Formats: sequence, C-alpha cells, structure tokens
Amino acid sequence: MKQSVAILGATGSIGQSTLKILTEHADDYQVYALTGQHRMAELVDLCVQFQPKVVGIPTGQFNQFKTIASEKKLSPLPEIVFDESGLVAIASHPDVDIVMAAIVGAAGLLPTLSAVKSGKRVLLANKEALVMSGDLMLSEAKKTGALLLPVDSEHNAIFQCLPESYFSHRHENKQPQLGVSQILLTASGGPFLNLDQTQLEHVTPAQACKHPNWSMGQKISVDSATLMNKGLELIEACHLFSISEHFVTVVIHPQSIIHSMVQYIDGSTLAQMGNPDMCTPIAHALAWPERISTSVQALNLFDVQKLDFYPPDHEKFPALNLAREAMRVGGTAPTILNASNEIAVQAFLDGRIKFTQITDLVEQMLLQVASHIADSIETVLQVDRQVRECAMQWVEKHGVAV
Ligand code: NAD
Ligand code: MG
Repeated sequence: MKQSVAILGATGSIGQSTLKILTEHADDYQVYALTGQHRMAELVDLCVQFQPKVVGIPTGQFNQFKTIASEKKLSPLPEIVFDESGLVAIASHPDVDIVMAAIVGAAGLLPTLSAVKSGKRVLLANKEALVMSGDLMLSEAKKTGALLLPVDSEHNAIFQCLPESYFSHRHENKQPQLGVSQILLTASGGPFLNLDQTQLEHVTPAQACKHPNWSMGQKISVDSATLMNKGLELIEACHLFSISEHFVTVVIHPQSIIHSMVQYIDGSTLAQMGNPDMCTPIAHALAWPERISTSVQALNLFDVQKLDFYPPDHEKFPALNLAREAMRVGGTAPTILNASNEIAVQAFLDGRIKFTQITDLVEQMLLQVASHIADSIETVLQVDRQVRECAMQWVEKHGVAV
C-alpha cells in the first residue's frame, strides 16, 4: 500500500526536492497534503500535479488561491485548511503516515510537534523547531514512538555513520555511546569564507544568498553565510544524537563532499559522502531503513581529487560560539538565539542592518534576555515572542529605517 505524505512547506526548496523524489516513486508514495505561505500560483501548480486531498494556506491568501485555482482549472478542489491550526491538523491527521517538516523557522514548531505527538514518521528539515523545543520534542517522540529522522544533510550523514542501535535507543545521559568518541560536523564555510572582517561589513543580501555548493531558501542561505546555520546544527546534533556539545567538532570543508563524520574509540572515522544534493538525505529519511533511488549522480572521486579541511575562524564568524554557549546554558537560551537570529536575518534581507550586525544582535539578546528552564512549549513560545519584540527594538535603534 502507498504511504501517504504531508509536505509542510511544499513550495520551498526542501519541499520541491521532496516532491521530485515522490514523483520518481509514485508507486510507493502519494501526496496527502501540501502547504505554502506565499507563491500561491506555484502551490496551485503543485496541486494540479499531485492532487492532494488537503491544502494548508494562510487565511489572507484564500482569495488569491481560489482565483488561481479556477484559472488553472484545479479539479477536484482540495479541502483547504488555514493558518497554524490548519497545519497542526494536517500533521496529526490519521490518514498521514509521513510528515516532511520543511517550513522555515519557528513557524514550523507547532506543526512539527503535532506530527511528533501523533507518532508519525517525521522527516526533520525544520531545524529551528528542534533547536527551540529540544528535549520537549524528543520526549514526545519517545512517548508516541514517532520516528524523527534527520533530513539536514550533516545529521543525515551522522545518522548513517552511527550504529543503528544508537539512534533507536537514544540514551539520556548526553554522552557518546557504543564506542563513539566524537562527531565531526562539516561546514562549507559559506560564500564569505575567504573575505576579511572589513569586507564582511559591506556584503549584500544577494551575495549572502549565493551559496557556493547548495541551492536553498533565503534564510538558511544567510545562516550559512554567518555560520549560524552550523551553530543551529550543532544544537540540532546534540538533541538528535543525545550528546553534549563538547563532543561535536565543527570542521570547515569547502567542497561539501563529506557531509559529516563519526569517530570511534578504536581510531575509526566514518564519513558519509556524496554530491551536494538534498535529494539524497530526503530519500534516505523517506525510505529508511531501505534505500530508494534518486537522480543524484554517484560521486566520481577522480573528479573530486581533493578534499580540504580547516578549523573555523571564530573571530570572523562569532555565530558558532554563540550557539555553543546557548547549548551549554540550555533551557530557553537556544530559543533566544534562534528568535533573535530570525529577526536579524530578516532585517539584513530588508536592508535594515549590516551583515556583521546579525551576530551583534544575537549576542545582545543572549546577554539581555534571561534564560530559564524550558519546562513547556508555552514557555518556549512566550520567550520566542519576548525576544522577537526586544530584537525588533534593537533593529529600530541600531539599524537604518527603510
Ligand atoms: P524555503 O524558504 O525555500 O521554504 C520554506 C517553506 O516554508 C515554504 O514553503 C514557505 O511557504 C513555508 N513558510 C515560510 N514561512 C512560513 C510560515 N510563517 N508559516 C507556514 N509556512 C511557512 O526554505 P528551505 O530552504 O526549503 O528550508 C526549509 C527548512 O529546511 C529550514 O528550516 C532549513 O533550515 C531546512 N534545511 C534546508 C536545506 C536546503 O537545502 N534548503 C538543507 C537543510 C535544512
Ligand atoms: Mg545542513
């Protein structure tokens, strides 16, 4: 029987790659629901192609969706659900087997959590949701038996390099188990790896969004340029693999051929390699423990020839240490980091602050907002709102008006 898939964030980069794989494996998977926040014309096109039973959109987009759907003769019309509550309902619907969590940012938290609470197979791209909710999400997964599978290429690589039992019996004590001694989290270094500090002051959003190896949404592209993406991924790895932050080492690897590594106490280092294309980790998470084909070209090592590795430059890219510190502090500190970063990235994209002010703002929020125990999702959401307000005031004060 076909597995039924809901794609939260279908119009985005990960959403599109997921749909590409589903098209190639139409005998095994069917699309139950698609959601999108903007780009209604593209969403209608996807509905025409995939015929989902349900579509999730913001209330404010309803008229536009309806008009375009009638122009493009979308028939039958899918059921339309609205806003966050609609996404939460999709993620927990009994007819859904697999949820692709590919919304960007904190907006994905409640829908992703809803999928976890309903015991789904959850393909986790939306790293911000896990950074914010951490142990709360993992304990829900433990309770319901939800399978939380990493789509982020690094975490998927680590998952592939760990013994299977490591993941299925996650330990509570935040130490590496089963002979694992270290996780090596690779980072491309982003588009500004070789710029100096003064050049970084003047980079533009267009330059920041032009990643050398990956084609991604704007927010994660900027995060890759500041290395905050790697900071968020460090926190993501600690939660997913139940490991303390000092067991995770970040390695700059500009070719993005090795997607991360796991070291063992016997001196072994296991790496997962491949051409940089998100279809590989998505297909892996979709079919695990089986393997399904993708159109990604197999690696030709004679073409690759050379793999470089460097330590990160923490002076130039302070984001990594800010994230490490937030993980060390724990509680709501990662939520403060994430919320302030989301506001800062948007302010940078809007031309209101300089690139180097993104991490200035995050650092200030970590200093100004007290972190406390993340005892419930309500607490996390309340801190998220509070930090966004403070961060917007910071932008008003230190950024330019547009
Ligand atoms: P994107 O910007 O291309 O797509 C984001 C999707 O989320 C879109 O469908 C958009 O409509 C939807 N969305 C945006 N704001 C929303 C809101 N407020 N409510 C509901 N839906 C909303 O982003 P992306 O590059 O596909 O990344 C998605 C997630 O996957 C991010 O968390 C990112 O960090 C993670 N990720 C992406 C890649 C990649 O290669 N693109 C790799 C690893 C992890
Ligand atoms: Mg990644």
